[in-house]
Amino acid sequence: MAQTTARLLDGQSVAAAIRESVLPEVHAFSARTGRPPGLGIVLVGDDPASEIYVRNKVRAGTESGLRVDLNRLPASASLDELLALVARLNASPVHDGILVQAPLPSAMGRGASQRVFDTIDPIKDVDGFHPVNVGKLVQGRAHLVACTPSGVIEMLQRSDIPIAGSRAVVIGRSEIVGKPMAMLLLQRDATVTICHSKTPDLAKTAAAADILVAAIGRAGFVTAEFVKPGATVIDVGINRVTDRAVADRLFPPGAARLADFDRRGSIVVGDVHPGVSDVAGALTPVPGGVGPLTIAMLLKNTVTAAQAAHP
Ligand code: NAD
Repeated sequence: MAQTTARLLDGQSVAAAIRESVLPEVHAFSARTGRPPGLGIVLVGDDPASEIYVRNKVRAGTESGLRVDLNRLPASASLDELLALVARLNASPVHDGILVQAPLPSAMGRGASQRVFDTIDPIKDVDGFHPVNVGKLVQGRAHLVACTPSGVIEMLQRSDIPIAGSRAVVIGRSEIVGKPMAMLLLQRDATVTICHSKTPDLAKTAAAADILVAAIGRAGFVTAEFVKPGATVIDVGINRVTDRAVADRLFPPGAARLADFDRRGSIVVGDVHPGVSDVAGALTPVPGGVGPLTIAMLLKNTVTAAQAAHP
């Protein structure tokens, strides 16, 4: 039987469309209030991946006409110093949104992230992690929703993939991706199953899905046996592979990604094995799938927060 290849869902173009839709709203807000919507980003320490994410967020925000200020703290900063900075941004009249880049240095201690989420003013919580915003999401009246899962919904809707009446399986139950993802799918009338590290028969459960979302953090974990033929597979994972043997298990000899690996010494891959494209009906690539949507939704949330604070 001839193999089919999944339709690639292009996150760059969907993200560009979202960012374009944000532009007139930025201009209207600026004209009405005399200043652009403002985003305060906090970066603690010098984690190289976080540096890249933050740089991309600053650039995307600035290109869209937002005011974006990057506030840095050294890795040695205390949690109290971080909370004081968040409090200053809460009080700032020019910042409508606040984002504290994860992960925080482990020296800040367990529970530090939650303390930070709890401290951000819910109306400026463009990451959607404050308990008030999480609670509103559960009740179906969310205003600011976590950027990655809301980006996935935009991707599905703009790609004409039906959610209502579908069976959706989300692998991963984190506060920032898995749980809000499941809630958003449920609110759009999918029948949702949430899987995690203790789920029995994971592949079999996943293979019932019309929409399968992988948010695990393990390179190439979701193989073809997890996927119902024709299903839509959303790969949220961002995993840096530095072991050539792992790359060899993901890509066939001669693949361009292996050449990339040899050039750079590492590659970024998703949670979904590339072989899934022979089974799935549609698939998000990594990179270039969900990642750009996360940033686009951050810009959108910042404008939403600004508008809500200045009706
Ligand atoms: P996390 O570590 O907080 O959560 C991982 C989840 O996967 C957990 O709920 C765990 O139960 C589940 N899991 C782990 N091993 C499993 C296994 N063997 N079987 C089944 N479930 C298992 O991670 P996260 O913050 O939700 O991120 C997940 C992935 O998504 C990471 O690769 C992260 O880098 C990526 N991510 C991407 C974006 C983006 O913009 N594309 C945004 C956030 C996170």
